Amino acid sequence: MDNKITVDGLTFVPYLTRDRIAEQVRRVAAELRHDLEGKRPLFVCVLNGAFMFAADLVREVGINEGEIAFVKYTSYEGTSSTGKVKEIMGLQQDISGRDVVLIEDIVDTGLTATHMITDLKKRNPASIRFATLLYKPESNKTGFQPDYVAFEIPPKFIIGYGLDLDGKVRNLPDIYQLKED
Ligand code: IMP
Ligand code: MG
Repeated sequence: MDNKITVDGLTFVPYLTRDRIAEQVRRVAAELRHDLEGKRPLFVCVLNGAFMFAADLVREVGINEGEIAFVKYTSYEGTSSTGKVKEIMGLQQDISGRDVVLIEDIVDTGLTATHMITDLKKRNPASIRFATLLYKPESNKTGFQPDYVAFEIPPKFIIGYGLDLDGKVRNLPDIYQLKED
């Protein structure tokens, strides 16, 4: 992976390569495939950040009977959480009796995750599983524990592979970490 990059005057250094990401996506996919055997899951990708992870994950899981849906929430401004979770787009379909798998890019404070799960539980799904690409255990303010985690990382701001800085750099195939000096 190449060098550091600058976005909005902030410097980022290479952190997780596309190869390491692919390796962990395969591991999480294998866990899900095992746990969802015989089920017809509803995968729910949390936009915008999880779009790339979800695309790779559902291809690796390979359950053709599964369905894919999208929801959208926001809580971040710049490089920190506002502490308020906003639903921008909810789930349209009936999820009663369904095995739901939420797919997130990152669990930071855990506020988005707990907010979403509280909402979904009211709609009587058979089960809710939570898969996240990244988890920052030291930032967790809610005690929320994701069921599937590709990487546990320290509480530093990162970008790439779907994660943004004010909407930018989601396209990067690798993940970069904010350089603090
Ligand atoms: P939480 O509600 O604090 O757990 O934050 C979850 C959301 O904040 C994620 O879905 C991301 O959109 C955003 N977020 C948290 N940490 C980062 C980061 O390091 N880079 C980019 N976005 C982040
Ligand atoms: Mg997100």
